Amino acid sequence: VATYREASPEQAAFLTSLIDAGLLLDTGAPGLLGQGPAFDDVREAFTAAVTRTSGSDPVEAMRFPPLTSTFEIEKNGYLSSFPHLAGSVFSFEGNDAQALELEGRAARHEDWSEFQSKTDAVLLPAACYPVYPQIARRGPLPRDGVIVDTGSAWVFRNEPSGDPARMRSFHMREFVRIGDPGDVATFRDLWLERTLGLFGRLGLVAESEVASDPFFGRVGRMLAANQKEQELKFELVAMVGGPEPTAIASFNYHQDHFTQVYEIGLEDGGIAHTGCVAFGIERVTLALFRAHGLDPQAWPPEVRAELWP
Ligand code: AMP
Ligand code: ZN
Repeated sequence: VATYREASPEQAAFLTSLIDAGLLLDTGAPGLLGQGPAFDDVREAFTAAVTRTSGSDPVEAMRFPPLTSTFEIEKNGYLSSFPHLAGSVFSFEGNDAQALELEGRAARHEDWSEFQSKTDAVLLPAACYPVYPQIARRGPLPRDGVIVDTGSAWVFRNEPSGDPARMRSFHMREFVRIGDPGDVATFRDLWLERTLGLFGRLGLVAESEVASDPFFGRVGRMLAANQKEQELKFELVAMVGGPEPTAIASFNYHQDHFTQVYEIGLEDGGIAHTGCVAFGIERVTLALFRAHGLDPQAWPPEVRAELWP
């Protein structure tokens, strides 16, 4: 069982106020929160504001389910970097007697896991992962590369917590850039600037920080230090549940990691790199409630105009 991260008093109070206001719905399992109508409205409005922010970029939409192929997650390195966050789908495989035994144990809330077997599906850990094998299938990339919009995808990370900003299941919206290394760098800088502008218009105080991913274990600490030193990841942090600011959007430069794994190259023989911008949609929504109060009707007119133009 993944270790439960206790909420700070401030985070616990924020969660209670959100549940009392009907914005979030308590399912009884930490980090698995339902969303009431007002929360859902704001979340959808923010997603639409992100779409407007992408302007006239030649983006291609791709949508994937919240489950993905086990094979791909084995292939792309997720299980070596983040084994502690992964979730996999197991399902029943057995005979009548075993089904009966499973049923009995389940009714008594005892352990029935021995009747479950691994399947070819895992929970999607980040919106961009299914994009790379799709692009690879097409063969060499056009000179200008591609930009893919994943839409808001449900993703899963097993980090149970009492902090409403640290969910196990949440929406991630990504724009993925695959192309010439210079184009990927330009894309990241452009989105960092655009996103700072968007958050500013939404009345969110966000700051840019060099960041690292929560790689697992001792080797992971070295990977994280290297990632920071090379400034491969930036995060925009804002106040959500407090007391510290939390990442509400990430800007990742993977260099040739995915293009090597999936053998993606440019049409003219040039090397391709990848990068992505990822919005934590629930975290942004929570930051809006934190900054402007629990009633969106009473939010500043300029914030409302940005969300509902
Ligand atoms: P990452 O791939 O870790 O950079 O995550 C992308 C974005 O998803 C982050 O910038 C956060 O806004 C959001 N995020 C990551 N983990 C969580 C979580 N446990 N709960 C809610 N949002 C998250
Ligand atoms: Zn990504």
